This record gives sequence, C-alpha cells and structure tokens, in this order.
Amino acid sequence: MTRDAMIARLGAHQGSWDVVVVGGGATGAGVAVDAASRGYSVVLLEGSDFGKGTSSRSTKLVHGGVRYLSQGNISLVLGALRERAALRANAPHLVRPLQFVVPSYAWWESPYYGTGLKLYSLLAGRQGFGASSILSSAEALARVPTLRHAGLRGGVTYFDGQFDDARLVVNLVQTAAEQGAVVLNYARVTGVTTTTGGAADGIVAIDVETGRELRVPARVIINATGPFVDGVRRLALPGAPSLIAPSQGIHLVFDRSFLPGAVGLMVPKTPDGRVMFAVPWHGHTLIGTTDTAIREVALEPRPLEEEIAFVLETAAPYFDKAPTRADVLSAFAGIRPLVARNRTAKTASLSRDHTICVEALRLVTITGGKWTTYRRMAEDALDAAVEAAGLPRRACLTRTLRVHGWDPQADRLGEQAVYGSDAAQVEALVRKDAGLGVPLRPGLTCNGATVTWAARAEMARTVEDVLARRCRALFLDAAAARTMAPQVAAILARELGRDAEWERQQAAEFTALAGRYVVHGARGATP
Ligand SMILES: Cc1cc2nc3c(=O)[nH]c(=O)nc-3n(C[C@H](O)[C@H](O)[C@H](O)COP(=O)(O)OP(=O)(O)OC[C@H]3O[C@@H](n4cnc5c(N)ncnc54)[C@H](O)[C@@H]3O)c2cc1C
Repeated sequence: MTRDAMIARLGAHQGSWDVVVVGGGATGAGVAVDAASRGYSVVLLEGSDFGKGTSSRSTKLVHGGVRYLSQGNISLVLGALRERAALRANAPHLVRPLQFVVPSYAWWESPYYGTGLKLYSLLAGRQGFGASSILSSAEALARVPTLRHAGLRGGVTYFDGQFDDARLVVNLVQTAAEQGAVVLNYARVTGVTTTTGGAADGIVAIDVETGRELRVPARVIINATGPFVDGVRRLALPGAPSLIAPSQGIHLVFDRSFLPGAVGLMVPKTPDGRVMFAVPWHGHTLIGTTDTAIREVALEPRPLEEEIAFVLETAAPYFDKAPTRADVLSAFAGIRPLVARNRTAKTASLSRDHTICVEALRLVTITGGKWTTYRRMAEDALDAAVEAAGLPRRACLTRTLRVHGWDPQADRLGEQAVYGSDAAQVEALVRKDAGLGVPLRPGLTCNGATVTWAARAEMARTVEDVLARRCRALFLDAAAARTMAPQVAAILARELGRDAEWERQQAAEFTALAGRYVVHGARGATP
C-alpha cells in the first residue's frame, strides 16, 4: 500500500469509478471496505491523513451506549451491541473487553444503576463481553484502588469494549486496499463535477504533496467527511442548508497511577447530565469527555479552558488523589458530527443514530452515528448509493469480513498486539537491525521498527502521521512525543527519500503541533 502505486493506479484507470468515497475516517474507510469487498471499483480520498479527524479522538470505546438505555432506546442499543460483537470478531487484535466500575456514594445508586447495567448485559445475550454485578465497597476498591474511599458504599461492575481508534482506521484502509480499492491520503477534494442535468459525476481533488490536480469521474460519490460534510455538499449545492450541528468533546490524559489496574471507571451522570469515563489506555489514564456546541469545525480543534476545568472538577470527587492540571500529559479535542434536529434538507433517516442524504442525484452524504456502528453506517450508505447510481446490487460481506491484522491470539504480543498479524514483520525489522528495537522514549511503544513499518506499509507521510496515529505518543504524552520528533523525522526522510531540509521542517512542524496538546500549567509543559 504505497502512495506512488495508488496515484499510478488512479491515473491508469479508464472511465468512471463505480464509487468515490470522500473522507478517510471510520465512516469513509468502512464504506471503502464494503464497496471494494462487494466488487465495485472504488477510490477513497482523504484530505489529510487517514484518521486525522474525529476518528482518532474518541473515548476508544466499542459500546452499545448505556446512555441510550436510560433514554429507553432499546433498539439503538441492541443494534450497537451487535456491531460491538462483530467488531470484536473481525478485529480481535484491536478490540478487547474492558471491565468498568460505577462507584456508589448514595444508597440508591447501586440498585438503580445495577438494574440498568444488568439489562445492558442481558441485551448483549451470548455476544456479551462479561456479566454485570453489584459490588461491595471492598470489591469496588479491589478493582479500582484509587477510588475515593470516604463515603464509598459499593458499586456496580459491567463490561464493554475498548479499542485503538486510529489504528483501526489504518487497518480498515489496508483492508480496503487488499479488496482492490485505491486509497489515497493527502488528497483534498475541492470540487464536485456535475452533468448539464445537475447530477454529480465526479470530483476534483488536490494532491496536497505536489499541488497537482486530480480529476476522478464517478458513478456515485459518497461524502463521509464527518464534521465537514456540509462543506463538501456545498461544493455541488452552493447554499445548501446545514445537515449537522457540530459539538466538541475533549479528553485529558494522565499517567497510569490514577488507574493502575485494568479496570475503568464510569460516572453515569455528570453535572451537565452526561456520562464520563476514566479508562486505562496504552499504559496511561484517559478521562473524558465534554459536549460543547461549536460554530466552526476545524481539523485540529483545541480543548477550551472551561472544558479542561470541567473534566478536572468532575473527575476529582471520584479519586482519593484527584488528577490536577499539573498532571495532564496530553489534552485533545474531537468534533461530533451530530445531525441537526431542524434540518431542512431532504433526508432519509435510516435510524435515529445516523442519517443518509442523497442530493444532486448521485451525491450520497452519510453522517452522525458513532465509531461502534461504522460498519452498519457503511452498509446503509452503500445500499443507498447503489440505488441512486443504478449499480448492480450485490450482497454486503462486512459482517464477517476480517480486518487487516486479524489475530485472535494477539494478546500474547503485549503492547505490540495492535499490529496483530503484522507484528512478525515488524519484529523481523528488529532482527535485521537490533537498533530499530530500542524504544524512542521509555513507556511509549514507538521504536525505529514501528516508524519504518508505518512508512513502508501504513502510508505514513509525516512525523505527525507516525506520532499521532500509527503510534499514539502525541495523544498519550505530548511533551514526550516532541522529544521523539527528530528521530522519527530522520527515519521517515530515509524511507521516503526526503532531504535534510524536509527532515528539519517536519520536526519543527510537529514540535509546534504538540504544543497544542500540552496544557498550560502542566508539569511537562514548556513554552
Ligand atoms: C469526544 C468524542 C468521543 C467519542 N467517543 C466515542 C466512543 O468511545 N465510541 C464510539 O463508538 N464513538 C465515539 N465517538 C464518535 C466517533 O468518534 C465518530 O462518530 C466517528 O469517529 C466519526 O467518523 P467519521 O469518519 O464520520 O468522521 P471523521 O473521523 O472526522 O472523518 C472525516 C474525514 O474527512 C476528511 N475530510 C474533510 N474534508 C475533506 C475533503 N474536502 N476532502 C477529503 N477529505 C476530507 C477529514 O480530514 C477526516 O479525516 C466520539 C466522538 C467524540 C467527538
């Protein structure tokens, strides 16, 4: 899967592609896998790096949505639980069960949440990740020893799924390529071409690396650009009313001392009526999230001061030693592409969770939903696209299609489990050159071999691609990631045939970016 080979295939293709997918996040990558595995000719164009948008900035949970249960939306929960089971079966190297404790400090909390979470476990049936039960305070503390002891009455435990979001996007893109799709990052769509009758029939894109224009004729275009769907719709329909109402959510990352075990914490009702999670992730503690309505969408959204304060204040009562500003190692924000309630565009809402909208006859927009349901969203979007374009109908295969890297015994690989069946090839690089096995920074699983692999097999093009999404250093510890940038730049320059100036500029650009993930007042913060 090299970028040069993909550009060559794009140029060599005669006539229209069956499906052109715009956006390389969870939704777009899912659509590309589905369309290619059904045998259609497919191009996937991502304007930045695969997973650069919301899909690398989630809470990293594969879940049915306990929140929807409290709203009585059982069918939505059932659908998501089915997707949770399918994803675990198809990507076992990236998805694993995670136990949670819901602590009780009031007498009514254990019976109340215990009943709801029992129902949640029962709904999953034989596809469940583990049973829910009521805990004594000693049992709750045995699972989460850092919980605030004072006033603890007990708790409830239940299970959900956890995954590495950015790595799943990359593996999905690799799966799409294996199924025959052309997949290209750094190819930003700037125009939608239409017939004289107004039907969308292709896209214009810019190869961001060279500035060259790419024209890609298409039988149908699927707009899967998450928070950016309205911008892409307006390329074909200037002035089209908004489909989405964007909302920002942030996470703060701390060292593992706040959650030293393998069990997460769920706060079912924050002061703003949301659910908050604290989860162990890649040897660190991830706490979030917020829900802040925003006006403008950005590819690199920034946590607001009030959001940082809210997460710290909400988490504090649940820990004996509350996490503080000084402890924050990284802070990142993501934008939810929520479907606006009062939309005026003609839409066909296939479920209350995601929305599909067909415009300009053959421009299909898919938005809303969540990471957990990306496969179902892709299936629905493609079915709508096949119908709109009059393509031959073919059955969807993704419910049981294995994702690149599939390895049900990956847990034996420890932190390298995320490489799944590729781990042996990453290891082979170390056998050839032992120096590549030395971690670039203790505690973060990124070494010369994983950087080399990212450039050779995962289409990483920049230092950011490696440190943010191929390995998760930027999201885990921004100051530490900064120190790794020069070494990563040097390896990439060698692998991609770049010169010393490129190498220097890459390290400088990443250093500036990482500064946005460092919280002012944190111990690791430097100007
Ligand atoms: C804070 C937060 C926490 C969340 N936690 C969870 C969770 O734990 N579990 C869960 O199931 N869901 C979760 N979600 C929801 C989930 O992350 C999103 O629903 C999902 O990632 C959206 O994916 P997407 O592909 O639609 O959008 P994105 O990931 O944003 O992808 C869109 C892509 O389109 C590209 N693009 C934009 N414009 C163009 C253009 N002109 N040309 C080419 N490409 C373009 C962008 O670069 C981007 O990569 C969370 C969301 C947020 C915000």
